Amino acid sequence: MRFTEFNFHSNLLEGIEASNYENATPVQEQVIPPIMAGKDVIASAQTGTGKTAAFLLPVMNGLLTNHVDGKVGALIIVPTRELAIQISQHMEGLSYFSHLSSIAIYGGTDAQSFVAEKKALQMGADIIVCTPGRMIAHLNMGYVNMKGLQYLVLDEADRMLDMGFQDDINKILQA
Ligand code: AMP
Repeated sequence: MRFTEFNFHSNLLEGIEASNYENATPVQEQVIPPIMAGKDVIASAQTGTGKTAAFLLPVMNGLLTNHVDGKVGALIIVPTRELAIQISQHMEGLSYFSHLSSIAIYGGTDAQSFVAEKKALQMGADIIVCTPGRMIAHLNMGYVNMKGLQYLVLDEADRMLDMGFQDDINKILQA
C-alpha cells in the first residue's frame, strides 16, 4: 500500500517523501487505518519492521488535522533514553514540513533540560516522548497538564513491564 492512499495531511506526506518512504510496511498497513479511525491498537512487531512510524504517522496526522495549541497532544512512553532519542530523531525527519513541536524527556540530563521539560509539560507540546522515571519526577511536582491529551502510546510495553515500570506506568496513566 502506498502512503498516498492513507489520506494523510499534505505536510506529513511531504515529510514521508523526504524520508524516502514509498510503500507502507505490513505493520504500518495494519495499524495506521484503525489508529486514524480513533481505535485503540495493540501491535507486536520486531525492530526493523517500521513499527515506530506505524504509530508516529497516524498520531502526527491526527495532531496536524486537529491541532490544539497549548496542550500536550500525544504522550509516548518508552523504556529507555536511547529509544526516546531515537523516536525524537525519527519524528524530526517525518515532521520536517509539519511544524509539530516535540520534546524527549528522560533522566540524567542537566537543570536546563529539566526547565525546558517542565515548560513543555505545563504549556503544551504536540508530542512528548518520555521515560517513566523522569515523567514521574515531573508528575510529583504537580504541574503536569494532560487535559488535552489525544494519543497515548506505550512503546515496547513488554520490555517496560520486564524492567519493573508497571507502577510508574499506572501512575502516569492515572494522571
Ligand atoms: P523501526 O522498525 O521503527 O525501528 O524502523 C526501522 C527503519 O525502517 C527506520 O530506519 C525507518 O526510518 C525505516 N522505515 C520505516 N518505515 C519505512 C517505510 N515504509 N519505508 C522505508 N523505510 C521505512
